[in-house]
Amino acid sequence: MSNSGLMEILLIEDEQAIADFVCSGLAGRGLKVRHIDDGNAGLALALEGNFDVIVLDIMLPGRDGLSVLKELRKAGVAAPVILLTARNELADRVEGLNLGADDYLAKPFFVEELHARIQALQRRLAGDRTNIVQVDHLKLDRITRHASLADRSIDLTTREFNLLEYLMRSAGQVFTRSQILEHVWGYDFDPSTNVVDVCIKRIRGKLTELDSTGESAALIESVRAAGYRFRRLS
Ligand code: CA
Repeated sequence: MSNSGLMEILLIEDEQAIADFVCSGLAGRGLKVRHIDDGNAGLALALEGNFDVIVLDIMLPGRDGLSVLKELRKAGVAAPVILLTARNELADRVEGLNLGADDYLAKPFFVEELHARIQALQRRLAGDRTNIVQVDHLKLDRITRHASLADRSIDLTTREFNLLEYLMRSAGQVFTRSQILEHVWGYDFDPSTNVVDVCIKRIRGKLTELDSTGESAALIESVRAAGYRFRRLS
């Protein structure tokens, strides 16, 4: 956090129109945004500053975003990074995630979406301190890879565990099948494939085995024509 107590975001983006709507949109949601339009200057600032989240465009003058990210991680800067990518930059997104990016957002995007991702990263960081992801009685231990419901073990495959973790970490946020495919399966699946639905169905089935009321399985919500969301409990 900055001295003012506001979350401080570093935005490295050379397109002025995007920078303008991100700066005003995030400022309107109570975040402080520092904007830089050049890769080298952005890297320098990210190295010396103490930002809560870095929003990083890939195509930049001076030094491209992936190179900025690589240098940051090499220097031990652990601030979460959200990459901004063009639609056709799948290879860059994958490389970015491999280089230590925490998330990415494809252009064009709504500032609400970016804000949601920033909040999700903050929640994820808070959760990282204990390595436990928990919603209600459902608990995932990311170190031991153990999943439990009311202290009874759930036997999940790696894929099922990763999918559940992905949804639970950002409870309340809707993820499309494509987003889930890219994050959990890790590459560009045929979007018409139903592996996500099949995997969700299996997870729900396993939850129902332990909780026959169906309430636990219902925590994973299908959002019509959109995707899936893990219900956020307050
Ligand atoms: Ca750019």
